[in-house]
Amino acid sequence: MRGSRQVVDYSLQKRAVLRELLAGRVGTYDVCDASPYLKNAARFHGEPTEERCPICRSENLTHVHYIYGDELKQSAGQARTRAELPALAMTLREFQVFVVEVCLGCDWNHLVEQYLLGRDGPADGAEDGSEQDTVGGSVVPGAGTDPAPRRRREAQR
Ligand SMILES: [Zn+2]
Repeated sequence: MRGSRQVVDYSLQKRAVLRELLAGRVGTYDVCDASPYLKNAARFHGEPTEERCPICRSENLTHVHYIYGDELKQSAGQARTRAELPALAMTLREFQVFVVEVCLGCDWNHLVEQYLLGRDGPADGAEDGSEQDTVGGSVVPGAGTDPAPRRRREAQR
């Protein structure tokens, strides 16, 4: 998500769990233990994904976004839809988002990533500024100074 920072990616841990499972060192009952709360959150606030469940391979995974932070008060620890996060990020200084993937078919669940959102972020462009200017180039004088005509031309294609 745009503006997210201090992102922690848990895909390595997830792969490790799946390896353990494949090797028979843990059983599916150990890893497919989504609580009724988590499954409800997935149903009502979850973000459907195109990713197949790595365990049962019959359902797509749902991402649940949990929010934590002092400013949230009684809302801390609640699930929010992904669409609600930008508005929260405008109003709060800082809060933590935990993304959990859940399979509603077999109850597989695992942490996907965590990150910080909120107004207290670094100034815009500090993180992703390197990507923005690679396309325009600005080598040709005048190219890139007015992006509007370029956009119109692209729209006509
Ligand atoms: Zn599954």
